Amino acid sequence: MQIKKDKVVSIHYTLTDDAGKVLDSSTGRGPLFYIQGHGNLIPGLEEALEGKSKTDKVKTSIPPEKGYGVKMDEMIHQISRSHFEEPESVEVGMQFQAEMDHGMQHLTVTAIEGDKVTLDGNHPLAGQTLHFDVDIVDVREASKEELDHGHVHGPEGHHHH
Ligand code: ZN
Repeated sequence: MQIKKDKVVSIHYTLTDDAGKVLDSSTGRGPLFYIQGHGNLIPGLEEALEGKSKTDKVKTSIPPEKGYGVKMDEMIHQISRSHFEEPESVEVGMQFQAEMDHGMQHLTVTAIEGDKVTLDGNHPLAGQTLHFDVDIVDVREASKEELDHGHVHGPEGHHHH
């Protein structure tokens, strides 16, 4: 069975950056389950896996435009240190979640100059070319319920409480 829209796919993967540093990997945990064509994965990875079959291995490099996007200046803000609950503890590299109009946003402190703290709301992997090494573990039909929900059910997938 080939990977195409509405198939449930399980993969093992390793993600590295341009320098070969491992950013994420399914090694040591179970495979990742997703439904093709439902935006579960970044677009470039779904494109690379389209038409592939169980046991195929796929190596692909995905540009930011088809990954987590390019870095956007309007996602970077400077605010006064005094706005933080614990101003003295703010450090470069700290991450926050903030409630925004469109939902929760992750913010990373990227610089501090005096009283000015720079917060970057871009995805941590925005602007990066992503190198994926993928082993396709299995491909199966999705159930009607899975398609209705847009995610995988069952022991390895999504659990409803
Ligand atoms: Zn569900």
